[in-house]
Amino acid sequence: MSNDKKNQVVIFDTTLRDGEQCPGATMNIHEKLEVAKQLARLNVDIIEAGFPIASPGDFEAVQKIAQTITGPVICALARLKEMDIETAGKAIAPAARRRIHTFSSGSDIHLRNMMKMTREENIKRSVAAVKLARTFTDDVEYSAQDTSRSDRNYLAELYNAVAEAGATTLNIPDTVGYAVPDEFGELVAFLVDRVKTPGVVFSVHCHNDLGLAVANSLAAVQAGARQIECTINGIGERAGNCSLEEAVMAIRTRRDRLGGAWTGVNTKEIMRSSRLVSRMTGFVVQRNKAIVGANAFAHESGIHQDGMLKDRETYEIMVPEDIGLAGTDLVLGKHSGRHALSTHMAKMGFDLNDQEMDVVYARFKELCDKKKVVYDDDLIAIVQEQAQEVPQVWTLEVMQVTTGTNNVPTATVRLRHGEDVFTDAACGDGPVEAILKVIDRITGVEGKLEDFSLQAITKGEDALGEVSVRVRYQDDAVQAKGSSTDIVQAAAKAYLNALNRHLFLNNHRQKVAKTQTV
Ligand code: MN
Repeated sequence: MSNDKKNQVVIFDTTLRDGEQCPGATMNIHEKLEVAKQLARLNVDIIEAGFPIASPGDFEAVQKIAQTITGPVICALARLKEMDIETAGKAIAPAARRRIHTFSSGSDIHLRNMMKMTREENIKRSVAAVKLARTFTDDVEYSAQDTSRSDRNYLAELYNAVAEAGATTLNIPDTVGYAVPDEFGELVAFLVDRVKTPGVVFSVHCHNDLGLAVANSLAAVQAGARQIECTINGIGERAGNCSLEEAVMAIRTRRDRLGGAWTGVNTKEIMRSSRLVSRMTGFVVQRNKAIVGANAFAHESGIHQDGMLKDRETYEIMVPEDIGLAGTDLVLGKHSGRHALSTHMAKMGFDLNDQEMDVVYARFKELCDKKKVVYDDDLIAIVQEQAQEVPQVWTLEVMQVTTGTNNVPTATVRLRHGEDVFTDAACGDGPVEAILKVIDRITGVEGKLEDFSLQAITKGEDALGEVSVRVRYQDDAVQAKGSSTDIVQAAAKAYLNALNRHLFLNNHRQKVAKTQTV
């Protein structure tokens, strides 16, 4: 089948906006930039980079992405408020291709309870917002939240009005994840039929509360939608968004049933994108997740293996190579020099200056002493560790743990705080608990560990272990990571990173109430 332009499904990635918005997935500006670079390699059409009015940090991240990333359209989210739209316009100004995405609501439940507007006021204000957005860019998207619980005739009226006012993409969000596929497809077909402005692109934004986000998005494509809003690994508010990798691979594998639809995504970058986002957010991908889960291409049962050996097609509808899952990505070792490392990092898409390269190279050498081979993922972990951005107020100097079946786990820890060094010891039910207790005691800040997960970053007994933690300090919950070949040390580092992040955020945070969005 040929790639007819009218059948192209535009891939709008909102990992950095809706994905980042979910509790615990917060990324700093360096992390966001790494993800944005990878999204450009993945060749998504549009990157929704953030919600600039939400905080100065969000503004800065969107602006930095607009300055740095080439290829995809850079999009910023804005409510109907003038300030929102002006701030969004300013943040995306440096991008060669830019979009403002403004949103309101379509359902009476939302209009009455949240927006406190009548239907008529909503149309008037939406039209004004779109017109204002058009003064910053010709590419304007409009969304009415909660379409699956809205009056269809009113939606048609609203979308006709904003399309006439200059909106070029009309997004139909199932904000609360309520729709089922045939119903949602019908809604999209209805709006495609009723909106009269030529040339507008219909888009969908589905949430996964009932596990139907991908199914609903595909039903929408069958009904004429030509943009899907999605996130890597399906992250996002609550149960998440439509998963990019699932939607893209479904379209690729079953375009025969989807009217010849296609996307411009470079699927060979899917696996790398999934791993990067998982690492940056600390959200582990479930093993049996479609496309990117560890088991997605593992054929373990005897019958399957037999079939696979005879003919790959027996049980495989896609091949792992399609998503960039190659055999081994073994790259570098002890004898690799600084130049080889820097060339390889550049090939992976990391743009490091000399100073950053020095730090990464030193860490790489340390790692080579501990393990035989260094994989791409090890290198990503190193870069990510350097990208903490947060000043290291407390650092780990020395750590000693004793544990075993016949003694009480005991930890001795020495921490540095500027010029001062503090040492203390404590017991615990396990070595990790003992260490966290000592850290609390020395720093005088008590954290409550809410979530702890350990993952081997690469293969083998000498793999780097990465610990992700979520720690609560009164009303502040902080997510942080630490990696080491020693998992207890990785836990200590993660916990200290969380503390440093908390101290940093406490000083710099501008509290902004984030309402539920799109
Ligand atoms: Mn959403």
